[in-house]
Amino acid sequence: MALRKIREIGDSCLKKKCREIEKFDERLHTLLDDMKETLLEANGVGLAAPQVGILRRVVVIDLGEDEGMLELINPVITHTEGSVTDIEGCLSVPGKAGEVERPQKATVKAYDRNGEEFEFTGEDLYARCICHECDHLDGILYVEKVSRFVDMEQGEEE
Ligand code: ZN
Repeated sequence: MALRKIREIGDSCLKKKCREIEKFDERLHTLLDDMKETLLEANGVGLAAPQVGILRRVVVIDLGEDEGMLELINPVITHTEGSVTDIEGCLSVPGKAGEVERPQKATVKAYDRNGEEFEFTGEDLYARCICHECDHLDGILYVEKVSRFVDMEQGEEE
């Protein structure tokens, strides 16, 4: 496993539409393992492959200590419910946060690292994260959806 460099806003990789994974091979597994390590190191909730310069539809989300890491390959959001406006940030946009409206619940259909299809439903933070990361795969950053930026200096909860 190895840490990968997180690309920041202004990098062209973050503006591109990513291609689907076709081969569920060793290369994909290495990418997933590297992304998980990079996400943990950066203390983030989610990471999409274009954020480490790989233009493929791959996402990892940290569901916390009990659930571990969720790996989403070729994810497609199939259902959303409700709407919540809350603050979010992005590892590719350091030092900023802003309010974004997202669904309260989001169901995603994806493949695991072995090519098995599954469904996952996230609520609140995880619904937000699924939508945020899937946007990355289409070259969309949350800053394009922000209704209001918040001042990081005053600190939110952390
Ligand atoms: Zn992001």
